[in-house]
Amino acid sequence: MKDFQYFMPTQIIFGKEVIKNNSSLFKEYGSKAMIVTGKNSAKKNGSLDDILEVLNINGIDYCIFDEIEENPSLETVEKGANLGKKEKIDFIIAIGGGSPLDAAKAINILVANEDATIEDLYILKAMKLLPAIAVATTAGTGSETTPYAILTNHQKKTKVNIVHKVFFDVAFLDPKYMMNMPLSITINTALDALSHLVEGYLTVKANLFSDTWAEKGLKLFAECIDDLKKENFTYELREKLILISTIAGVVIAQTGTSLPHGMGYHLTYFHNIAHGRANALLMKAYLEIYPNKERVDNILTCLGFKNLEELGKFIDDLLGEKEKVTKEEINAYAEDMVTNDLKLKNHPGKVTKKEFYIMYEKSLNVQ
Ligand code: NAP
Ligand code: FE
Repeated sequence: MKDFQYFMPTQIIFGKEVIKNNSSLFKEYGSKAMIVTGKNSAKKNGSLDDILEVLNINGIDYCIFDEIEENPSLETVEKGANLGKKEKIDFIIAIGGGSPLDAAKAINILVANEDATIEDLYILKAMKLLPAIAVATTAGTGSETTPYAILTNHQKKTKVNIVHKVFFDVAFLDPKYMMNMPLSITINTALDALSHLVEGYLTVKANLFSDTWAEKGLKLFAECIDDLKKENFTYELREKLILISTIAGVVIAQTGTSLPHGMGYHLTYFHNIAHGRANALLMKAYLEIYPNKERVDNILTCLGFKNLEELGKFIDDLLGEKEKVTKEEINAYAEDMVTNDLKLKNHPGKVTKKEFYIMYEKSLNVQ
């Protein structure tokens, strides 16, 4: 049996009206909160109102930083941290998808460690943290149960995970916030969760505990396939999708992600392709080169597909027309991937530049 570690310290609270039903929990964390969220969705889906209500009930003061953009930048994180320091906050409440949740983790470090700078997010050393609560409003990244914070570095023209591991203390999961989510966000985020389960199952760090969660997540995903195809977004489907996403977060918290996540960042940065969509575009080509066919077959069995072609067709039908890229572009991305040690070390076996090129070529509309 392989050696392994398992760590997941976040309290998960799932169900109907979980914020209001657990309002007393907020008192434990201090008298001033900073809410970190995106520009619009939290105001529309009821999550911000629910948080404000429980803060008022508990007499907790708050400030709001609602400027987090998709694929949050280091600049926005710095701005949020400056507000948190000025307001002398005791704890953080992040509301939203992966972007606000990830940004809140980095903001947390910069507020809790007065002298820390953006550069310190990428230098491994001991860091203090404020308590932090997550309200997940997308069902995709699992950021509520992962320690990762993926931030856009415009100087490096890509997205980079910070080196510190920041788990939330509490994650609230209430499917009601997702009931009016647009089709494209629903599909892209669901496919991000699927890619976490698949990649997490196939990294070199996969182990008995992470496999157990990944297989359960894949089987739950199988129950969603018909409804996703039919765009039948019921409350029951939303419940399953948020659970799959959170389970997938638990998986990648142990295993990390692999080649599609590394390759997808180029598609997001240079072609504005949503994160989950980018991973899904690359998934079939990645599974084709994966060396351990038995592991791939286990994934297909859990998902209820007879072969890789069936999985590929399911994904293609959900994604529709593929984005155009040039040969020169994918050649540059392939070049970059052969030196991406962070992703390569999670993949069993060697991958050549030509193999990366072919994976991009098969996954996109190359002109
Ligand atoms: P997102 O970037 O957080 O949000 C995408 C869009 O969805 C935004 O326009 C947002 O609006 C909207 N939205 C959020 N909740 C909604 C709801 N309930 N109803 C309707 N619209 C809603 O999307 P995401 O896919 O969840 O996160 C992607 C980010 O997470 C990427 O930066 C990715 O790299 C990162 N990620 C992190 C991890 C991790 O482990 N930490 C794993 C995978 C990916 P507003 O902007 O107005 O809120
Ligand atoms: Fe992801």
